[in-house]
Amino acid sequence: MRKKIVAGNWKMNKDLHSGRVLTSEISNMVADEVKPDVQVIICAPYIHLTSLGAIIEGRNNIAIGAQNLHQEVSGAYTGEISASMLQSIGINYAIIGHSERREYFGESDALISKKIDQAFENNITPIYCCGETLDIREADNHFAVVNKQISDALFHLSEDQIKQVIIAYEPVWAIGTGKTATAEQAQEMHKNIREHLSNKYSKAAADAISILYGGSCKPDNAKEIFAGADVDGGLIGGASLKSRDFVDICKSF
Ligand code: PEP
Repeated sequence: MRKKIVAGNWKMNKDLHSGRVLTSEISNMVADEVKPDVQVIICAPYIHLTSLGAIIEGRNNIAIGAQNLHQEVSGAYTGEISASMLQSIGINYAIIGHSERREYFGESDALISKKIDQAFENNITPIYCCGETLDIREADNHFAVVNKQISDALFHLSEDQIKQVIIAYEPVWAIGTGKTATAEQAQEMHKNIREHLSNKYSKAAADAISILYGGSCKPDNAKEIFAGADVDGGLIGGASLKSRDFVDICKSF
């Protein structure tokens, strides 16, 4: 059985106090309401990670993750954070290759593949983001583009490693826009991704990989989207900033 996962991406939101309050609320609600087989991950800005780790300590199905890491081991990269630094504060998950990093920070899949390697070197599970822009979808190139993103960033990994990656399919036109992919669009892309993984590795490997949907996922559409046979949960932006909404999404399986 694949893991069901809901990850929140706070992006550049929440100061220390409001982040602690939000996490305490989520942690308590998850303990009371969310099935234990759902893995919940809160991906917060760096300043929060240690403090939030202490809040969720001892809880089984909730973890704290980062939103990025640097591709080099260490050195003169002012303002950056390495995977080993994250590991040293107990972080086991990191979003890698989010479309906002691709757009605003020029991240390519070649660079992202190095970040994936740093994650593995430091026992951090990558949440690898892929997804097409609107013009690519309108040109009907979305399957080819997403498959190429995955090949370029992930296909140097061993079968053992690829099974540990979490993939988030996030159509760029649906992120933060209020425009969600339909449940059918999400399922057909997830199925395509799984077939692409199966062709490169094996059906067993492809079947082991959790593929999350991201893009304006909310409590009122999560159930329908998560019902797709190849949809194993969600990566949630805006709705992860409200405890009630986020936890309701975690209950949408
Ligand atoms: C995201 O940033 O990964 C995301 C899916 O954002 P939103 O849910 O706000 O569209």
